[in-house]
Amino acid sequence: MTAWRNLSLSAQILIALIAGLIVGLIFNVLAPGLPILNTINEQVFGTIGSLFLSALQLLVVPLVLVSLVVGTTALSDPAKLGRLGLGTMIFYLATTALAIVTALIAANIIDPGRGLTFSPAENYEAPVPPPVKDVLINIIPKNPIGALADGNMLQIIVFAILLGLAMMLAGKSGERIKAAFEDWNHVIMQLVNIVMLFAPLGVFALMASVIARLGLESLGSLAAYFMTVFGVLMIHLFITYPLILKLFTGLNPLTFLQKMRPAMLFAFSTSSSNATIPVNLRTAREALGIPNQVSSFTIPLGATINMDGTAIMQGVAVIFIAQTMGVDLTLAQLGTVVVMAVLASIGTAGVPGVGLVMLATVLTQVGLPVEGIAMIIGIDRLLDMTRTAVNITGDAAVSTIMAKREGVLDVAMYNDPAAQVELD
Ligand code: ASP
Repeated sequence: MTAWRNLSLSAQILIALIAGLIVGLIFNVLAPGLPILNTINEQVFGTIGSLFLSALQLLVVPLVLVSLVVGTTALSDPAKLGRLGLGTMIFYLATTALAIVTALIAANIIDPGRGLTFSPAENYEAPVPPPVKDVLINIIPKNPIGALADGNMLQIIVFAILLGLAMMLAGKSGERIKAAFEDWNHVIMQLVNIVMLFAPLGVFALMASVIARLGLESLGSLAAYFMTVFGVLMIHLFITYPLILKLFTGLNPLTFLQKMRPAMLFAFSTSSSNATIPVNLRTAREALGIPNQVSSFTIPLGATINMDGTAIMQGVAVIFIAQTMGVDLTLAQLGTVVVMAVLASIGTAGVPGVGLVMLATVLTQVGLPVEGIAMIIGIDRLLDMTRTAVNITGDAAVSTIMAKREGVLDVAMYNDPAAQVELD
């Protein structure tokens, strides 16, 4: 027990994840002869996993609101906010576009759909994508309490920034409320600590239940599609991000990847950028040296609008579905894919499986049948896990770049190998 407690959070989560994978595989193999295992999986692993996910989601709204209000009031000059906002948006959109272009090129070279014919499952109900225009209009909350109650991240971000700005302008009253928010910030961080105590158990249960349900043999004829998406995700993670980081900050990208490990494992096991916000925010502040004034804005914003991994899946999926139908996409259509995938990511929250809803938008725009999604849905969860890890790493990479550009990155903390996210 003491040996376990002495392990770092990252090691504990990694062990939990591997244990979950092994137990899940054993359950998957034995379940046909031993149906009780299915019940155990659903009732025990499923329940613990859902409890953990709910507990993580419970943290998100209060954490984002409070830390962003505090972060905004810490900006000495409101003009900085505009620069930070614009710069962050540009980096988020550019990295997503780069991701999808890489995916389109790779899918065109590998031809994952070669030899397969289009066969959508019968009675498949395709998701209905939200119109992109509405998302932009809805960015200002009519009712901030409603935004908080719905967990609408973009609206919460807008409200928190306005509130923070108003507090800066409100003299003495503003200062009193600011002090109260700083106290709340401290309290919510303790709440994060309490939930994190259960992280290894939660990660184990989530992993075991997904793998027990899916197994790994479901890959079958989709192996080429799977490997193409997976390969491009790895290129983006291990080549594109390090290059961009090096180029714009001059910092050692290996340090970045190493410090991101716990957050990546979290994203992998939860398949949700949103649920990973608490861990990613702590990683940014306590390991990467990105102060709250930048990270409290960039990390929640990124969880909603920056989904490079998801864009990669969409790029490969569009080509894959087109190939199974014998359709050759024109260059103009490929351009549409890039633009739509980037736009579709703006309004969709980072929750499991949302990438498929975004894919529905993209397919419709290029005139491919939405039912094509049925072909890849079976293996999507495994890819969802991997792409979510890429999504949140992209958020942290851009946050690091923005903090460095704003001159507020704690470079000593970034370079200090001992600065890691740990439980307090
Ligand atoms: N699960 C992903 C996320 O939360 C989104 C997706 O690709 O489905 O970032």
